[in-house]
Amino acid sequence: MLDKKKFYINGKWVSSLGKNELKVINPSTEEAFATISLGNEVDLNNAVKAAKEAFAQWKDVSKKERIIFLEKLLTVYKKRFNEMAESMSMEMGAPIDYATAVHAVSGQSHIEDFILRLKNFKFEESFDSKSNNYISYEPIGVCGLITPWNWPINQIALKVIPALATGCTMILKPSEISPISGMLFAEMIDEVGFPAGVFNLVNGDGDGVGSQISGHPDIDMISFTGSTRAGKLITKNAASTIKRVCLELGGKGGNIVFADSYPNAVRDGIRNVMSNSGQSCDAPTRMLVEKSIYQRAVKEAADEANKIKVDVASKKGDHIGPVVSKTQYDKIINLIKSGISEGATLAAGGPDLPNNLKKGYFIKPTIFTDVKNNMEISKKEIFGPVLSIIQFETENEAIKITNDTEYGLGNYLQTEDKEKAKRVAKKLRSGIVYINGNGADSGTPFGGYRQSGNGREGGVWGLEEYLEVKTITGWK
Ligand code: NAD
Repeated sequence: MLDKKKFYINGKWVSSLGKNELKVINPSTEEAFATISLGNEVDLNNAVKAAKEAFAQWKDVSKKERIIFLEKLLTVYKKRFNEMAESMSMEMGAPIDYATAVHAVSGQSHIEDFILRLKNFKFEESFDSKSNNYISYEPIGVCGLITPWNWPINQIALKVIPALATGCTMILKPSEISPISGMLFAEMIDEVGFPAGVFNLVNGDGDGVGSQISGHPDIDMISFTGSTRAGKLITKNAASTIKRVCLELGGKGGNIVFADSYPNAVRDGIRNVMSNSGQSCDAPTRMLVEKSIYQRAVKEAADEANKIKVDVASKKGDHIGPVVSKTQYDKIINLIKSGISEGATLAAGGPDLPNNLKKGYFIKPTIFTDVKNNMEISKKEIFGPVLSIIQFETENEAIKITNDTEYGLGNYLQTEDKEKAKRVAKKLRSGIVYINGNGADSGTPFGGYRQSGNGREGGVWGLEEYLEVKTITGWK
C-alpha cells in the first residue's frame, strides 16, 4: 500500500492536520493500492498563505526565467514519463498502452505548447500608434485549481502550466478518486526547484477542500474542470468573494453522420465514444444518422462495438479498461437500464459484466438504437461506454436535435460535402466542432457553451484566463 498522505505546501512535503484518510482504489481489481489524506481548513489556509506570500516575488520573475523553469519541468516530465502513465493506469483504469500513448503524452504536449505560446506572448503593448495609452497583462494572483479523474494529467497541465507561465501562484486539488498522478506531478515541481509556495497541492473532497477553495477570500481565481453539478455549487460559493471562475464542465456531444459521409465514419464514431471507456467530456455520445443509411449504420455500429475488447488496465494491447469507480459503475448501469425501459433498442452490450471478467468496474460497449432525443439516455451525460443512435431526415433537423441539449462542448459531423460541413459547423452551438474525424491541434482553445462551462483552455486563450488586463494612460 502506497503511503501518499502528505501534502506539498510551501516547497515541502508536510503531514495533513486533518484526521480523515481515503483509500485509492484500482478500478480493474476493486482493491485499494494507496492512502491519501483529506485535508481540512487549516491545511488549505496554510497553502493559501504560502501561495499569497510567494506571489509577491513570482509575479515579477521575468518571462525568460519562467521559460527556463518550464523547460526544466519538461525535462523532468520526460524522465518520469512512464511513472506518470503507470499511476494513471492504476488510479483511473486507463489501459497501460493508452495511458502511455494518450494520457501521459497529453501532459507533455501541453507543457511543450505553453512554452511556445509563452515565448511569443506579449505582456505589454501600446494601445495604438496615435494613443498615449498602454496595455499591461498581469497575473491575476493566487489560483485554486480543481481537477477531475477522467483525464488527470491532461487537466492538471492545462491549468498549472499557464498559471506558472503567467506568474500566478496556486493550490492544486486533484480529484480524490485519482490523486496519484497529481502527487507525482508535485514531485516533479519539487525536483525542478520552483520557488517555495508557487505551487501547492492539498488533497481533499469536494465538500471539504473543494468548497473551502471556492469560498476562500485570498484566492483570486478558480479554474475548475468537472461536473456541471459541482460547477454550479462552485459558482455560488465563489460569488461572495467575486473571484474569477473558469469552468470546464460536462457534455453530450452530437455526431451528425450524413449519407455522404466517408466510408468508415460510423465505425470511427463508435471507437471515439468508447475510448477512455466513454469517460470524456467531449465524447460524441449521440450519433445522428441520416435516414437513407440508418439500417447500414446500425449494423456497423453494433458490429464495431462488439469488436472492442474490455480488459484489465495493466494488460498491454488495444482494449478499453473499467470505468473509474463503483459509484460511476452503478450510475451507468442504471442509465443503461433506463434506456431499455424507455423503449430504446439495445443493439450491443448491456448491463451484464463482460464474460471474460469476474470483478472490476467493467461495462460492455453499449449501443442503443431507435433513440429519441427526449429520452434520459439522450439528455444525461452517461460518462461510460454507451452511445445512442438517433435518426434524422434533413440538415435542419440534424442541427436542431444536436443543439437541443443543455450542454455545448464538442460536436462532430461527417460529410464529403465541404460547403455543407462549414455551413452546419457554424450553426452548432458548441465550443468545438470536429469535421470528418480531424483532431484539434495543440494550442487551439478548448471549452464549452451553455452548461458545458465558460472557460477556454489551451494556447494563448489558456494563458489569458490567468491574466488581468490593465490600461495605463499618459504612457508616452
Ligand atoms: P466532479 O465534479 O465530481 O469532481 C471534479 C472535481 O471537483 C474533483 O476534484 C472534486 O473533488 C471536486 N468537487 C466536487 N464537488 C465540489 C464542490 N462542491 N466544490 C469544489 N470542488 C468540488 O467531476 P468528476 O466526476 O471528477 O469528473 C467528471 C466530470 O468532469 C464530467 O462531467 C466531465 O464531463 C467533466 N469534464 C469536463 C472537461 C472539460 O474540459 N469540459 C474535461 C474533463 C472532464
